[in-house]
Amino acid sequence: MEISNGNIQFTLEIDEKFKSVADQLSKDIEKEILELQGVNSVSIILTAHKSLTAKQETEIIDEKRIPGIDKIIAVASGKGGVGKSTTSINLAISIKNLGFNVGILDADIYGPSIPKLVGSTQKPQSDGKMLIPIEAFGLQVMSIGFLVAEESPTIWRGPMVISAFTQLLTQVAWKNLDYLIIDLPPGTGDIQLSLSQKANVSGSVIVSTPQDLALIDARKGLNMFRKVDIPVLGIIENMSYFICPSCNEQTNIFGNGGAKKEAEKLGVDFLGAIPLDTEIRLTSDQGKPITETNINTPQSEQYKLIAQNIVSKVSNIKTSGPKIIID
Ligand code: ADP
Repeated sequence: MEISNGNIQFTLEIDEKFKSVADQLSKDIEKEILELQGVNSVSIILTAHKSLTAKQETEIIDEKRIPGIDKIIAVASGKGGVGKSTTSINLAISIKNLGFNVGILDADIYGPSIPKLVGSTQKPQSDGKMLIPIEAFGLQVMSIGFLVAEESPTIWRGPMVISAFTQLLTQVAWKNLDYLIIDLPPGTGDIQLSLSQKANVSGSVIVSTPQDLALIDARKGLNMFRKVDIPVLGIIENMSYFICPSCNEQTNIFGNGGAKKEAEKLGVDFLGAIPLDTEIRLTSDQGKPITETNINTPQSEQYKLIAQNIVSKVSNIKTSGPKIIID
């Protein structure tokens, strides 16, 4: 859609089987829009599409099915440093603690942090064809950080990064996973696009800090997932509030309820809030995530609530392939 100086132009995509009503529909829409204040002219471009048959839809979904994985959940953020990787690993463990088989794939090729978060420098073995994921805390784990020297990927160019990511996604012997959590790089780049083309992603979650939620970054992330047809399960607010370690008093540094309201404004669900907390940071730095080492804490409880939210949302979503093809 393009809007400029009160002139509105957009494309209306109509399924071929509704072709007979397309003209009337277009006229009705035009009339409604012209009644809006400030609109001078409307121009609608009509295109007819053929629906995919159920068989075609199944074929596309099957083509993108990765052996050994039932559901994929992508964890994204608009920018770096908001705690996306910390949230990914703690969610992966929390979902495992709910009784599921879980894997985690570090897709942050330029800045892999999962090896540090799981406290492992083990090199993955190969069975001749596929890489065998590392085991940590009962999770199957894969990261470029296990395979190459820390500084190597920073000099890689786009195609190399995509190819490394694709290999990590498709040439790893994932075993009976109910969920694969993918820790995406920050932003909205090639890896996100490539993921949507190569795999059926059941849903994505966006990690944001309260002060960034209102900013453009989180919105960009949302729009990208919507464009590539990956359902957005909701937003997680990280470093949301502070609990005083000596008196246990909660301080809402950035005000109360702002994230929830922002999520509503953006038209997505609010999945929950994680406190800004020394224990979370220390346990992450030590490679012993709090959800594994200290399960009976309020922090772990928060991760568990979000994990439950995600699992219940994903179970209600039908894995989707593209719905229409252009004639
Ligand atoms: P990203 O993946 O978004 O770049 P990281 O997960 O690497 O961010 O986190 C950045 C830093 O913030 C790390 O030092 C991490 O320990 C810390 N951190 C993340 N979440 C929290 C939190 N809820 N409370 C305190 N520190 C956190």
